[in-house]
Amino acid sequence: MNGAEGPRRVHDAPPLPEKAKPREAPSPDLEQVPFWDATGDGRLLVQRCVNGHHQLYPRAHCITCREAAEWVDASGFATVYSFTVLRQHFSRSLRHLLPLVVALVDLDEGPRLMTNLVNVEPEDVRVGMRVEVWFEAVSDTAALPMFTPVPA
Ligand SMILES: [Zn+2]
Repeated sequence: MNGAEGPRRVHDAPPLPEKAKPREAPSPDLEQVPFWDATGDGRLLVQRCVNGHHQLYPRAHCITCREAAEWVDASGFATVYSFTVLRQHFSRSLRHLLPLVVALVDLDEGPRLMTNLVNVEPEDVRVGMRVEVWFEAVSDTAALPMFTPVPA
């Protein structure tokens, strides 16, 4: 294991307003099961090969050198690569979360992940901002890996 960081707390989803629906839980295919199982335990996994290349999403082999890839713990730290702010959405599972920051973050291990930024005002988000993973429960066994600013 690569785990510099231990498991993190899994937070409950915010209370649902009337007529809102919870966010959809993942229905992972076989290769994604280890990733989603770990999220429920507050762990963020990425794949790594024997030559040290990291990747996400999961594949049987390293996309750089074709060696076998295994799951390892990511540090959970990342840098905002790009983001946008959703200010309207018709989905009853997202409307109550607006404005919602949708971001691409570069994990310190390398892979780029699409996620939400939480606990931050949209106008305070910056490209290059340091963030860390923040899990929100989405089912009994899985949590959505979101990101929150690293305290200064
Ligand atoms: Zn490799």
